[in-house]
Amino acid sequence: MTAYPIGVEVSCDGPDEHTDCPQSAAISARFSSRTARQVRADGRADGWTTRRIPGRLRDVCPDCTGARKGGAA
Ligand SMILES: [Zn+2]
Repeated sequence: MTAYPIGVEVSCDGPDEHTDCPQSAAISARFSSRTARQVRADGRADGWTTRRIPGRLRDVCPDCTGARKGGAA
């Protein structure tokens, strides 16, 4: 058997389209999560949000989500 699990990294795309995440955050995947879908499910449990935009998904960490809600410029 030559196949081996490939880790999926889902990192923060926030806080907005043209700004990198100040924390460069990434979802810490659970041991059993190997697909992007599974990792995103883990992220949601931790407060991450996923937004569907044309062509792709944006994943935003809890910090950036909070920053947006707080209205920080
Ligand atoms: Zn972030």
